[in-house]
Amino acid sequence: MQIRKSFTFEAAHVLPHHPGKCARLHGHSYRLDVALEGPLQATGPAAGMVEDFEVVSRVVKAAVINELDHRSLNELLDNPTAENLIVWIWERLEHELPHLAELTLWETRKACVVIRKGDPLTHAGKASESPTNRQELPLP
Ligand SMILES: [Zn+2]
Repeated sequence: MQIRKSFTFEAAHVLPHHPGKCARLHGHSYRLDVALEGPLQATGPAAGMVEDFEVVSRVVKAAVINELDHRSLNELLDNPTAENLIVWIWERLEHELPHLAELTLWETRKACVVIRKGDPLTHAGKASESPTNRQELPLP
Protein backbone atom coordinates (compact mmCIF):
# COMPACT_ATOMS: atom_id res chain seq x y z
CA MET A 1 0.00 0.00 0.00
CA GLN A 2 1.17 3.56 -0.63
CA ILE A 3 0.71 6.67 1.50
CA ARG A 4 1.47 10.24 0.41
CA LYS A 5 1.99 13.48 2.25
CA SER A 6 2.39 16.96 0.75
CA PHE A 7 4.66 19.77 1.91
CA THR A 8 5.24 23.31 0.64
CA PHE A 9 8.16 25.69 0.77
CA GLU A 10 9.18 28.97 -0.83
CA ALA A 11 12.62 29.38 -2.38
CA ALA A 12 14.56 31.52 -4.84
CA HIS A 13 16.93 30.39 -7.57
CA VAL A 14 18.85 31.32 -10.69
CA LEU A 15 19.43 28.80 -13.49
CA PRO A 16 22.83 29.89 -14.81
CA HIS A 17 22.66 27.89 -18.08
CA HIS A 18 19.11 28.83 -19.03
CA PRO A 19 18.85 30.93 -22.19
CA GLY A 20 15.65 32.68 -21.06
CA LYS A 21 14.09 34.36 -18.07
CA CYS A 22 15.04 31.58 -15.59
CA ALA A 23 18.60 32.95 -15.68
CA ARG A 24 17.25 35.90 -13.66
CA LEU A 25 16.71 35.66 -9.90
CA HIS A 26 13.14 34.55 -9.17
CA GLY A 27 11.23 32.38 -6.73
CA HIS A 28 8.74 29.51 -6.62
CA SER A 29 6.19 28.16 -4.20
CA TYR A 30 7.28 24.54 -4.39
CA ARG A 31 5.16 21.54 -3.42
CA LEU A 32 6.79 18.26 -2.47
CA ASP A 33 4.74 15.05 -2.41
CA VAL A 34 6.38 12.21 -0.48
CA ALA A 35 5.17 8.65 -1.15
CA LEU A 36 5.98 5.66 1.06
CA GLU A 37 5.17 2.10 0.09
CA GLY A 38 5.11 -1.03 2.19
CA PRO A 39 3.04 -3.47 4.17
CA LEU A 40 0.91 -2.33 7.08
CA GLN A 41 2.84 -2.55 10.33
CA ALA A 42 1.54 -5.36 12.53
CA THR A 43 2.53 -4.08 15.96
CA GLY A 44 3.71 -0.97 17.75
CA PRO A 45 2.48 2.64 17.64
CA ALA A 46 2.07 2.54 13.84
CA ALA A 47 0.07 -0.72 13.81
CA GLY A 48 -2.32 -0.75 10.86
CA MET A 49 -0.28 1.94 9.07
CA VAL A 50 2.45 1.95 6.42
CA GLU A 51 3.99 4.75 8.50
CA ASP A 52 2.61 7.31 10.93
CA PHE A 53 1.90 10.54 8.98
CA GLU A 54 3.33 12.47 11.94
CA VAL A 55 6.64 10.62 11.62
CA VAL A 56 6.75 11.43 7.89
CA SER A 57 6.03 15.06 8.71
CA ARG A 58 8.71 15.32 11.36
CA VAL A 59 11.40 13.71 9.20
CA VAL A 60 10.64 15.69 6.01
CA LYS A 61 10.41 19.02 7.84
CA ALA A 62 13.70 18.50 9.69
CA ALA A 63 15.71 17.06 6.78
CA VAL A 64 14.30 19.06 3.86
CA ILE A 65 11.73 21.80 4.45
CA ASN A 66 13.64 23.63 7.18
CA GLU A 67 16.75 23.55 4.96
CA LEU A 68 15.05 24.84 1.80
CA ASP A 69 12.30 27.20 2.94
CA HIS A 70 13.09 30.88 2.24
CA ARG A 71 16.50 29.94 0.93
CA SER A 72 18.38 30.80 -2.24
CA LEU A 73 18.79 27.32 -3.73
CA ASN A 74 22.01 28.37 -5.45
CA GLU A 75 23.63 28.24 -1.98
CA LEU A 76 23.06 24.46 -2.11
CA LEU A 77 23.35 23.60 -5.79
CA ASP A 78 25.28 25.16 -8.67
CA ASN A 79 22.38 24.58 -11.05
CA PRO A 80 19.20 24.24 -8.96
CA THR A 81 16.83 22.85 -11.55
CA ALA A 82 13.82 20.92 -10.22
CA GLU A 83 15.61 17.74 -11.38
CA ASN A 84 18.80 18.48 -9.43
CA LEU A 85 16.82 19.62 -6.41
CA ILE A 86 14.74 16.43 -6.22
CA VAL A 87 17.94 14.32 -6.24
CA TRP A 88 19.26 16.45 -3.35
CA ILE A 89 15.97 15.86 -1.50
CA TRP A 90 15.97 12.12 -2.24
CA GLU A 91 19.48 11.71 -0.85
CA ARG A 92 18.45 13.42 2.39
CA LEU A 93 15.34 11.28 2.85
CA GLU A 94 16.21 7.77 1.61
CA HIS A 95 18.01 6.73 4.79
CA GLU A 96 15.51 8.39 7.14
CA LEU A 97 12.43 6.89 5.46
CA PRO A 98 13.15 3.23 4.57
CA HIS A 99 9.81 2.86 2.76
CA LEU A 100 10.40 5.92 0.56
CA ALA A 101 9.00 5.00 -2.87
CA GLU A 102 8.53 8.20 -4.86
CA LEU A 103 8.97 11.96 -4.66
CA THR A 104 7.12 14.51 -6.78
CA LEU A 105 8.40 18.07 -6.77
CA TRP A 106 6.04 20.69 -8.18
CA GLU A 107 7.92 23.82 -9.24
CA THR A 108 4.71 25.46 -10.46
CA ARG A 109 1.11 24.28 -10.40
CA LYS A 110 1.62 22.81 -13.88
CA ALA A 111 5.22 21.55 -13.89
CA CYS A 112 6.67 18.76 -11.77
CA VAL A 113 9.47 16.20 -11.66
CA VAL A 114 9.10 12.65 -10.32
CA ILE A 115 11.78 10.33 -8.95
CA ARG A 116 11.16 6.72 -7.94
CA LYS A 117 13.08 4.18 -5.88
CA GLY A 118 15.65 2.53 -8.17
CA ASP A 119 16.00 5.52 -10.52
CA PRO A 120 19.66 6.35 -11.20
CA LEU A 121 20.76 9.39 -9.19
CA THR A 122 23.02 11.77 -11.04
CA HIS A 123 25.10 13.74 -8.62
CA ALA A 124 23.61 17.16 -8.20
CA GLY A 125 25.68 18.88 -5.53
CA LYS A 126 27.90 21.90 -5.79
CA ALA A 127 30.91 20.96 -7.91
CA SER A 128 33.24 22.31 -5.24
CA GLU A 129 31.69 20.13 -2.51
CA SER A 130 30.78 16.99 -4.40
CA PRO A 131 33.01 14.05 -3.39
CA THR A 132 32.61 12.47 -6.84
CA ASN A 133 34.16 15.52 -8.47
CA ARG A 134 37.06 15.73 -6.06
CA GLN A 135 40.37 14.76 -7.56
CA GLU A 136 42.55 12.49 -5.50
CA LEU A 137 46.03 13.77 -6.18
CA PRO A 138 48.80 11.16 -5.84
CA LEU A 139 51.30 11.97 -3.13
CA PRO A 140 54.73 12.97 -4.45
ZN1 LIG B 1 12.55 28.82 -11.59
